[in-house]
Amino acid sequence: MDAIKLKNSCICGNTLPYAECCGLFQAPPAEGGDASDRAAFRHDLHELFMYLFPLRNLYQVYWERLSEEEYPHHLLMADADYGRAMMANFFWDYSVQFSDARPILRAARDIEEKNLRLANDFRQWSLSPFWLWYVIEADNRHAYIRMADSDRTRRIEHGGELPEPGRYFAGRILSYRGKEQVHPALLVFSEGAATVLPDRLRGICKALGIKSGSGLRPDVQCEEWRRHGSLLLSLWREMTYDARVGIPSRTVSSPHSFHLPAPERWNTARQLQEGGAVPTGRNRFELRYRALTLARLEAGTSGLQVTLLDEAYRPYVFHWLGDHLGMASGSSPGGDRMESAPPAPGDWKAWARAAHDLLNGETPMEASLHDFGRRRLRVLLEELPLKEAELTALQRQLGL
Ligand SMILES: [Zn+2]
Repeated sequence: MDAIKLKNSCICGNTLPYAECCGLFQAPPAEGGDASDRAAFRHDLHELFMYLFPLRNLYQVYWERLSEEEYPHHLLMADADYGRAMMANFFWDYSVQFSDARPILRAARDIEEKNLRLANDFRQWSLSPFWLWYVIEADNRHAYIRMADSDRTRRIEHGGELPEPGRYFAGRILSYRGKEQVHPALLVFSEGAATVLPDRLRGICKALGIKSGSGLRPDVQCEEWRRHGSLLLSLWREMTYDARVGIPSRTVSSPHSFHLPAPERWNTARQLQEGGAVPTGRNRFELRYRALTLARLEAGTSGLQVTLLDEAYRPYVFHWLGDHLGMASGSSPGGDRMESAPPAPGDWKAWARAAHDLLNGETPMEASLHDFGRRRLRVLLEELPLKEAELTALQRQLGL
């Protein structure tokens, strides 16, 4: 995220404007009214974020260091969930590297004389790990949850952020006025993740050298405290983004463009929009997945120009095009189409791994991974001067 965008985001790290996010809790709830603990908690959380806001320059330094990591985090800063969790991780865990203590502890010390109760809460908040939780039971205000690696049930209050029972989320549980509140920056895991999460969490515990999240004993100097938040965040990113669209590379490479010929009877603009592509101009669209832009699409009379923003997105983008445009069905007649040399007998391995124009720049192996590619691949194979046995062998190798 660039500096300007950072200014436009909320104090909590959300990409929503302040007025639509934490600004709603700017005023303290009326004394003696029927305000819930949640409203009071959100106001006090607002006060904490206001206190932390001037330390944003530290966050920027952190941000610059992050950009040296392998994953290009800046691509995900438009993801409000990711941005908020990242910001919370920084102030809760990482800032130790950039200042003499966790800023939340500092806030507690600073307000101690004015508001002892709030100072006590802040002190406890600074100890809350960002961890994996399981929702046992929930209504629209309260829930019973447990740490994914513990049997101890906790009753918490929430503001509608929790997933339904049976699902996992990564979050922080903060003590507040003797009860427990869930920090609103939480990351919900997909339903399908439930089967692998307990195992992945064991891996994280092993990496941190702890038995369980309930064994996390924070200390300003302790190394595991600094790393646990980012490990959980990576796990969420991996399951939410990487597993779906691939891992973009950090280094900028030139964009990959392909031209897909138009099948008969198509209305590109309508089909693209119905599929969920975002219009960005006349006949121009962007294909996005959550906060990531994966490809730019430009519709013309002769077909569709596709520009991948990263090579990693190729399978997802081509799946999507196959599913929403059915472009594979309309292949133009052959003749002048054989641009690449046919494979030499016995040399299928190399051929299957070489990019092919008729597969829109994919290799036969890549194309064989998705429906759209397989259809193109079958047309291509029909035209190769192959003996029956060779064709069968090649089809088998490509899983057709
Ligand atoms: Zn906010």
